[in-house]
Parts: sequence; structure tokens; C-alpha cells
Amino acid sequence: MMRVEAVGATDTGQVRPANEDAYFAGDSVFAVADGMGGHLAGEVASATALEPIRNLDGKVFQDAAEAVKSLREAVVQANDVVSRMAADEPSYRGMGTTLTATMLEGDRLHVAHVGDSRAYLLRNGAFSQLTDDHTLVQHLVDEGQITLEEAANHPQRSIITRAIGVSQEVEVDSMTLDLEPGDQVLLCSDGLTGVVEDEHIAEELARGETHDATVRRLIDRANEAGGPDNITIILLRASDSDPDAGPDPGGEAVPASDDGPVVVRTRQDGESGDWAKRLGSYGSMSRDSPWGADERDDAGRSGRGLKALAIAFGVLVLAGLLAGGAYFLLSQEYFVGLEDEQVVIYQGLDFEVGSVELARIVERTELSAEDVQPWFRDRLEDGVPAAGLADARSIVADAPLHADADDEGGDAADDVARAETDEGP
Ligand code: MG
Repeated sequence: MMRVEAVGATDTGQVRPANEDAYFAGDSVFAVADGMGGHLAGEVASATALEPIRNLDGKVFQDAAEAVKSLREAVVQANDVVSRMAADEPSYRGMGTTLTATMLEGDRLHVAHVGDSRAYLLRNGAFSQLTDDHTLVQHLVDEGQITLEEAANHPQRSIITRAIGVSQEVEVDSMTLDLEPGDQVLLCSDGLTGVVEDEHIAEELARGETHDATVRRLIDRANEAGGPDNITIILLRASDSDPDAGPDPGGEAVPASDDGPVVVRTRQDGESGDWAKRLGSYGSMSRDSPWGADERDDAGRSGRGLKALAIAFGVLVLAGLLAGGAYFLLSQEYFVGLEDEQVVIYQGLDFEVGSVELARIVERTELSAEDVQPWFRDRLEDGVPAAGLADARSIVADAPLHADADDEGGDAADDVARAETDEGP
């Protein structure tokens, strides 16, 4: 039997006014959710989505198939509850959340996910991302339109193409990992992966620190990189079980990897988004079609079909964005950026698809690029993602100003001009 210990932590970061992430680390179930929506809605979405997952904690299953089924059903149930709340309560309209949930069953770890909160595995010095991001930029990478490097720094990398709670239907990816002693599985929100590169995450896991210290270090690294978003981490460590050993709340150090540097395995540009091929040695993978038609367990055979489905789905999402059909995914997306050295609030994406521009300025501010600290100006150039208009406004209001900026109150909110809505291009 495998022994698996989990340490989880969440942190608001340096920029956001509140923490909309949530996590649950129980005995057999571990999950991370990254909520979105104005004011409290994001927090409600992430906390609510965790409930059906939490209910699975400690449950015993007959076999792997039953466990996977239950986990997937819990994710679908999370979608049902969050989408119903969003429909019923005006202040929750448009809220949603990512959900990356894992469940231990024997020596297996089942993973189900929707959105861009990731699961990684460090095994024998190889660090790989287990989950595929359900994001627009991942879609563009899959289509060969942008490179992985471009994706990693893309200002709209946080736009997700799938989320819990935004629709009555949800497509869930799941996979099963056969655990080995020494495995480290990291679940995290994009507050970590958006600013700390895989190489550095891998480095921290391989350092051989205690469990708690490793989680702490990862959060510190995200904050040192500006902490632009909420950061949530659960780190699972598997070892050979020792029936005599009691629980160790402090966590144990793992041996540092002394076989040289950790190898980070990422997809090559243009490589298919077919996990099963990549993960053939780890376990199996299944995925619902967006239309809930069938479930595929042997993705080695059906990978091509899955890829086609994924592309079709992505194109549908894009077409929907343009046509207004799936507009909420886009309309929820705000970011604070620059136009002619002025700080402005955008809605949408700041690149074009065909000749159609996907972003428009919804609010201009009196704040200029030179008023803010240089590191924040750099972030503005990339675009600072916001959970909604209110969030975008508070990002502007909380913008770190130069100490010598002649803004007596230090409150940039006073400078925000509530300019009338720009109709865009
Ligand atoms: Mg996030």
C-alpha cells in the first residue's frame, strides 16, 4: 500500500483584493478551484464547487472504474450546483470556477479537471504536466497559431474555454495515475503557473525540503514574481506505507534528487493535445465529448478523434465568442492595460482573429504609465487580467504608485474617469 500525504495552502497574492481560490485536502480527496466573477461571486463559485468533491472524502470504492465514475460525477454535480446558483441569483450571474480534483483509490490517483488549474507529476527526476489547460492560448498552441513560449507570456493566457458553472453542460477530462513511491503530484491554480516557470517549480519539488517548506517556497516564489493572482497549491507525496509510522503533520523531507537536474517534459510546439500518448506509461485517460455522447478509455486509439473534437469545440467557442453565442466567456474577461501611455480597462482579448478585434476599451482612467512603479508598468504592458469590471477598477485603484507621485491621497481610484463606454472597433 502506498502512503500519500498532502499539504495545501492558499495565498491572496500581491495584487488582488480578495482570494477567490479555494482548496480541499482531505484523507483521500484533494482539489483546487479558482473562482471568477465580481465581488464575492468567485469565492462562492470555488467554495461551492468543492462541496461535491468533499463529500467523496474517505469513501471506499469497489474498483477504479467506480472511483473514476464517482469523481467525474462529483465534478458534473459541482457544475450543476454552481450554474444553478449563477442562474438564480443576479449577483452571482456569470460566476464560474476551475476545478482540478484528485482522488486516491488504492495505489491509484484519479484526476478530473475543468479549466486551467493544473496537475503536475514529478517522478524519477522527470517533471510533467498531467492536465491540459482548457484555455484559449492552449487552443491556439494546439492549432499551431502560437508557440509555447508565446503562450506562456500571452496576456490573455488566463482566458479559459471551459469552466465549472458557466453552462449547464460541462466537459470533464479525467485520467488515472498509477502511483509509485517517491511521486510528487502538485495541484495548483494559475497564480503559481502564470508567473513561476515549470523549471523553477520542478526545482523546488526536487530540492528535498520538507513538505511544508516546499509548499511555502512555491507560494513565496509566486509572490516574489509579483503575485498578480491568487495562489493555491496542494502537494501530494507518495511513499511506501509504514503501518507503524504515525501521521506526521509537519511533513517529511524527500531525498533531494541527486541524479542531476530535473528534466521538465513539455509538449513540443504543434504536438497534439493527446495526453494518452504522453501518459501511456502512467495510466489511462478518458474524456467526455462536449456533447456528452460517449466516454473513451483507450485514448491511444481515439486520440485523433479527441483532438478533432477538441479543435471543433475550440473553434465553436471562438465562433461563439465572435457571434455572441458564448459571449459570457469573453465578456467576463477584463484586463487592465495601456493605450498611449494611459491606463485603461479592456474587455475581451487584445489580439485579432481574422480581421476582428476581440478587445475594446470600456473605461479610461486618469492614471498614466509613468505614475506607476516600473514593475507594474511592465505588467500593464502585458495586460493585468481581472475577474470583472469591479475587479479591474480595484486593480487600477490599488495600482502601486511611485512614492513621489503627486497624488496626495495615494488613492488612484479618485483618478478613475468614469468615461462613457467606448463602443470599440
Ligand atoms: Mg487564478
